[in-house]
Amino acid sequence: MRARTKIVAGNWKMNKTVAEAASLVEKLQKQLASFSGCEVVLCPPFTALASVAKLLKSTPQIRLGAQNLHPAPKGAFTGEISASMLREVGCQFVIVGHSERRRYFGETDAFLREKLLAAVSAGLHPIFCVGEDLPDREAGRWPDHLRSQLQGVLHALPLPVLSEIVLAYEPVWAIGTGRNATPEQAQEAHALLRQELERLHGQSIASRLTLQYGGSVTPQNARELLAQPDVDGLLVGGASLEAESFTSILLSVE
Ligand code: PEP
Repeated sequence: MRARTKIVAGNWKMNKTVAEAASLVEKLQKQLASFSGCEVVLCPPFTALASVAKLLKSTPQIRLGAQNLHPAPKGAFTGEISASMLREVGCQFVIVGHSERRRYFGETDAFLREKLLAAVSAGLHPIFCVGEDLPDREAGRWPDHLRSQLQGVLHALPLPVLSEIVLAYEPVWAIGTGRNATPEQAQEAHALLRQELERLHGQSIASRLTLQYGGSVTPQNARELLAQPDVDGLLVGGASLEAESFTSILLSVE
């Protein structure tokens, strides 16, 4: 079972060549040499995983994550990568259900559930993303949307699977837009997610899961977001691409 520890992850998306990735990791390693404020996870593109894994051997406190996986163990799935391949290359985490995957690649709840199961059985911690789009936020339908995303993927999942998951609340309208959820909005959504987890799986697991917020996190807003009682960490896109901004976000962790 994962402990409910603070965790900040950087999702590099489709950015950074192998050389650029190495340069970013080397800067982070220098700046974070004595940092122990939270778990740190870097999620480079697939092409840079092996080289980043090699660099991270000297700083095991910075962990490696992937941005996606295929649920099958192997086979005729051109262009895809399995959970055990990610483990082999040194990943401990994998992002599942990012809104860009749902939107551009049509990933459904049933498929995401398979991915979660495959990830956990290979020993990976999935960072499972949920979040409403702007029309649902503006119409006040966000609680129903979040409940349905949780229920659609997590219903009746065995507790040993569930307990390895990190849940990330990523409102779609906040991703890459420069418009973050306010700390109050983030707290309200996280509290609702915890309540729904409790309804689905019981109080014990709901209180022990780590909930991250993601969506236009910057060095300016990180501290206030992290100060919310149900915000246990951050998933950072754009601001994780530069060592200075990512480090300064990490330093906001109490
Ligand atoms: C993300 O893509 O997970 C994300 C939160 O992006 P950004 O921080 O750029 O909004």
